[in-house]
Amino acid sequence: MASSAEKVKAKTIIRELICKGIKILAFDFDNTIVRVHTGGEWKSSLEKLEAQIRPCMKELLSAALESSLHVCIVTFSEQFKLIEDLMASAFTKYNYKKILLRCNTKHWPRGEEGHGPLPQIAMMTLGKEQHLSWVVTQLYQTHGELIKPQEILLLDDDERNCRIAREFNHNSFVVTDSINLKEFADYAKQLDVDLAPPVTVSS
Ligand SMILES: [Mg+2]
Repeated sequence: MASSAEKVKAKTIIRELICKGIKILAFDFDNTIVRVHTGGEWKSSLEKLEAQIRPCMKELLSAALESSLHVCIVTFSEQFKLIEDLMASAFTKYNYKKILLRCNTKHWPRGEEGHGPLPQIAMMTLGKEQHLSWVVTQLYQTHGELIKPQEILLLDDDERNCRIAREFNHNSFVVTDSINLKEFADYAKQLDVDLAPPVTVSS
């Protein structure tokens, strides 16, 4: 059970991100929200996966869901239903329905017309860009809102995805196994959205 001090900390981080101009908080799933890598092949129970949600991610997501931020999950996992059910179960007290979930599914992303799914190599070089583009398009179509690249913050354990995100002018934060709310708070404090500063990568 998280302490109320942790909840306050998470809310402060979210407020800081909003003040700095972040509009979309994008979460990777494997090794980011949860501390395991499911490989898109989780066969155990939902309860067991829920127990793997990092406590700091639980707090951060809860605070983000109660805020004006747009929240999305951008993942190469194909297990859309599993992640959707997990969010409904873990964040039932919060506005979990606003989470935009972009998984790699059988029909997405697709390559050129009539050429089937996009090759794995193309997906790897684009990091989470296609996922984030999809999210931005959804927000435009549903809210008429135009999000600028630098208004997106990606949290991902994969340094390559974070580097590609910065190349596309987003902000990104590399999630490590030692992640905690203090580390997020320090990042949020030094964040300068206009300048999109480089992120220190800890091993
Ligand atoms: Mg990951």
